[in-house]
Amino acid sequence: KKRVVSGVQPTGSIHLGNYFGAIKNWVALQNTYDTLFFIVDLHAITLPYEAQQLSKASRSTAAIYLACGVDPSKASVFVQSHVRAHVELMWLLSSATPIGWLNKMIQFKEKSRKAGDEEVGVALLTYPVLMASDILLYQSDFVPVGEDQKQHLELTRDLAERVNYLYGGRKWKKLGGRGGAIFKVPEPLIPPAGARIMSLTDGLSKVFYFDLFSCLCMYIMLMSKSAPSDQSRINLLDPKDLIANKIKRCKTDAFPGLEFDNPERPECNNLLSIYQLISGKTKEEVVQECQNMNWGAFKTLLTDALIDHLRPIQVRYDEIMSDSGYLDDVLAEGARNASEIADATVNNVYQAMGFLGRR
Ligand code: ATP
Ligand code: MG
Repeated sequence: KKRVVSGVQPTGSIHLGNYFGAIKNWVALQNTYDTLFFIVDLHAITLPYEAQQLSKASRSTAAIYLACGVDPSKASVFVQSHVRAHVELMWLLSSATPIGWLNKMIQFKEKSRKAGDEEVGVALLTYPVLMASDILLYQSDFVPVGEDQKQHLELTRDLAERVNYLYGGRKWKKLGGRGGAIFKVPEPLIPPAGARIMSLTDGLSKVFYFDLFSCLCMYIMLMSKSAPSDQSRINLLDPKDLIANKIKRCKTDAFPGLEFDNPERPECNNLLSIYQLISGKTKEEVVQECQNMNWGAFKTLLTDALIDHLRPIQVRYDEIMSDSGYLDDVLAEGARNASEIADATVNNVYQAMGFLGRR
């Protein structure tokens, strides 16, 4: 079986973007691939954060994975910091990472500008090396990447090739390594079209964005956990009154009717896309149903669809959270499975890089 790894940071409430851009797709992938889904808590400390909140957020994020349908009998679900090899490999990889590669990362530029120089830790710069370690540790074949992570995956691939070149090849064979390569070079798995969810408000969450594949620079406003305004996102655990309120207040426009793909109507496109995803209808069906609606009628339709879709997830979430023994067992088992693969990789890397082995 080909292997797929992915994760979400426990940096706040999981929202529709994380759901449609990541977690919901995992549920389909776990049937076809050997899957590892983790809570990337080590990444969550790259910007200032509250230490008392971190462990709570990690448990809650894990419970959301399960509530959304990730099945621990099919996928390994674990917390990144429980598998020590992530940090170990990161150090080894960072010695092979040119600093210029990291300086070019858009997300670093953006986030460091927002946070201010005195607030920015070194980890924000080296974050992509940890992400490379997350992926390469498991010899992953595919990594589902949202648009915001394409550049980081590109760096992961470059780094895998560089390490294979520097320490693999003939040298690696002489050390008894097989296949001549230390790391498998992972491929991106592009999520289904339309699974990029924008902010509900235009507010201050604008980020500069560079699309590597189309080489376009543009401004977009992704729905994001770390955006300051909670009005800008629908969280999976939002109660129904809050969902209704957020949809009522979200940004719209003054054009007649509703349509997809009009560049002058990004909000309209986003809300119709959310409705399409949440209702499971085709684009054509949504056009038929909504093209002549006014905003009031559409907002009621969207609100009801969101509440209906999220209710069963919220019920399952409450069940999982009320049985902490179960969740802890799942995470322990997941970490055991993951450690087995990760330790083997990191041991190989130590060997290939020439470290003295231990007895
Ligand atoms: P943060 O603001 O802390 O970066 P985030 O909301 O961007 O949080 P991440 O933990 O960075 O979430 O990303 C988790 C996964 O969700 C990634 O696979 C990412 O591509 C995806 N994702 C995040 N935001 C969106 C979005 N608005 N639309 C689609 N996918 C998204
Ligand atoms: Mg993000």
